[in-house]
Amino acid sequence: MGHPRWFRPDELLRLVIVSGVLEASSPIHIGSGRVSAFGEYETLKVLIQGEEVPYIPATSIRGMIRSYTERILRAQGFRVCGGFGRGSCSSKHIGEVRLSDIVQKLIVEGRGLEALDLLWKELCLACKLFGAYGYEPKIITYDSLPISYRLGHRAMIAIDRGTGALAPGSVRTIEYIQPGSKFRFRLDLINLPNYLIGLIALVIMDINAGFVRIGAFRSKGFGVLAIRDLSISIIHHSPDSGNEEVLKALDEFDEDVRIKGTSLSGSEAERLLRRCIQIWHRKVKDLAKVYGLEKEVHT
Ligand SMILES: [Zn+2]
Repeated sequence: MGHPRWFRPDELLRLVIVSGVLEASSPIHIGSGRVSAFGEYETLKVLIQGEEVPYIPATSIRGMIRSYTERILRAQGFRVCGGFGRGSCSSKHIGEVRLSDIVQKLIVEGRGLEALDLLWKELCLACKLFGAYGYEPKIITYDSLPISYRLGHRAMIAIDRGTGALAPGSVRTIEYIQPGSKFRFRLDLINLPNYLIGLIALVIMDINAGFVRIGAFRSKGFGVLAIRDLSISIIHHSPDSGNEEVLKALDEFDEDVRIKGTSLSGSEAERLLRRCIQIWHRKVKDLAKVYGLEKEVHT
């Protein structure tokens, strides 16, 4: 099967922007690698108008969403690669040649469509969504900057990163973001069919239920957050994406979703996400066959 149109990086069909407020429900510590003059391990900060403020970086948010998406997909029988390292789509070889080198060569030779067919066939669904070497992501995350925040300080027993064992005698003071701190949140979904919007909506629901955590000391109860005050903006770039009343199906597995306008908030935004989740659940068995059953032939 050739690749569907929504998979093409050069064609913008639709942009769905999910935004809201990211609120810490527990302490959050994102390692900055920086130790203060008092020997305290600081949480990551950024300089805004001369003031250092804590933030949650786009990479941490993407990592959290990707790893939980992969958990959901694995549980449904999809093949996913983990994103990096040996066995990942980015390091995949076909015969003796790296997939990314074959793709590059095809593009240079002006055989872009063949390159896309190959990527469609070889990339796992997580890489199709979050990108891989040679293929741009369809899900874009942003740095979450603070709306209001408070920092706290706590003594923790440090854990050796390599072995997971306690490093003897190393009690460290860490700085953390206090529960109740609020950050701006934005997630862009480019060209996603409604069933894949549903998959990401499932991840958002589980983040809000406290199943998905971010940053360090997660085993100690850190890193729980919720995305509140969700709003969704839909920008159609093609009549094939839909209009004010409908978010059209983008491929043969997808289904139309009725919408009330392209700027949704509150219960209307939630309704759209719930409808997309229903499509995901209805289609997941068929989708697992299309996206997931090509077992490793060449690694
Ligand atoms: Zn992959």
